[in-house]
Amino acid sequence: MTTEEVLAKGLIERIGIEGSRIKHEKTGDEPVIFDVPIPEHKTGVRKMLDALLDEKHGLLKSLQELIAVGHRVVHGGEKFARSVIVDKEVLNVIEECVPLAPLHNPANLTGIKAMIELLPETPQVAVFDTAFHQTIPKYAYMYGVPYHYYEEHRVRRYGFHGTSHAYVSHRAAEILQKPFNELKIVTCHLGNGSSITAVDCGKSVDTSLGFGTVPGVLMGTRSGEVDPTLVLYLMEKENLDTKLMSHILHKESGILGISGISSDLRDVEEAAEQGNQRAKLALDMLCYGVRKHIGAYAAAMGGIDAIVFTAGIGENSSVVRKMVVEGLEFLGADVDPEKNNVRGKERIISTDGAKVSVLVVPTNEELVIARDTKELING
Ligand code: ADP
Repeated sequence: MTTEEVLAKGLIERIGIEGSRIKHEKTGDEPVIFDVPIPEHKTGVRKMLDALLDEKHGLLKSLQELIAVGHRVVHGGEKFARSVIVDKEVLNVIEECVPLAPLHNPANLTGIKAMIELLPETPQVAVFDTAFHQTIPKYAYMYGVPYHYYEEHRVRRYGFHGTSHAYVSHRAAEILQKPFNELKIVTCHLGNGSSITAVDCGKSVDTSLGFGTVPGVLMGTRSGEVDPTLVLYLMEKENLDTKLMSHILHKESGILGISGISSDLRDVEEAAEQGNQRAKLALDMLCYGVRKHIGAYAAAMGGIDAIVFTAGIGENSSVVRKMVVEGLEFLGADVDPEKNNVRGKERIISTDGAKVSVLVVPTNEELVIARDTKELING
């Protein structure tokens, strides 16, 4: 952490299904794949530690060299506005938030518990995806349903991708050499899941994902904003139960549902270029949605100094960046086509002298997790 260099990275795949494996890459070496049976998460964690200890491909002599472990946790509810060292109480809160993130929090808990069992003396830190958005004011996070549902069932806007929005907005201020706490920034995290966030003087003040991960802009397979009465209407007309309707909104909608081609924007860009009208529509819907959010957040913050693009689409698609910013000239935003010709690299892509800076900043959630972990264990 003195140089913030990545020493090794890896990925555990196909846990609990056939063909499970660990991809492991020590910086400077070719990636290796360990094909090993991984019936559940604890074995996965054990094998990952084995890879770090491996004589040929590893980098540790003993696990004692690990001074802490940082975990990404999706939902911290209203309890956590920052990262924390894991103790019994923290584990309980993550558990309490399972109903709010039923697909993610149980997996996050399994990982943390497996680590605690394997490394009982090593501090574990939890970094929450929802934490950065805890500064959103109440009038922006409440939904207009009867108030007691908020009290009884905790329904409100939470927002996600917080670690990414925090990192790229902070980094944008550094690149622009301006104080973070004086800038009005809109961050566009556009990947398979997407969210737009208004970062006013260093704080998240609104974000496009909400109670769940469906609202906001068109995503890979998620619809983005829909009128809730449309959901009720379809359930009735098509005789759908909540499980099926949820599947449609999460897995069959978005770029896939509109284009009918793919959830992967690369396929859709290609088809649109060849004249496919539904692919073009998906692209138009995505970019219009992002542009509309930028306009709304400029209003929310009373102005805008910078727009930041990140994640798979934001970092790689010059087409999307161009289409989003076209039409925002009235705010003072303009993209230079030559500077915009960039992939996966930090760069200012706005025209010289434009009032609003537009930037590409690759996200780095792992670095934020590592930094928070270091800071917490140093007290
Ligand atoms: P996740 O939300 O799963 O982390 P990513 O941030 O990896 O997703 O983003 C995945 C998306 O990025 C996909 O839609 C993919 O098509 C898109 N993407 C990746 N590379 C490119 C590219 N060169 N041009 C356009 N889109 C790209």
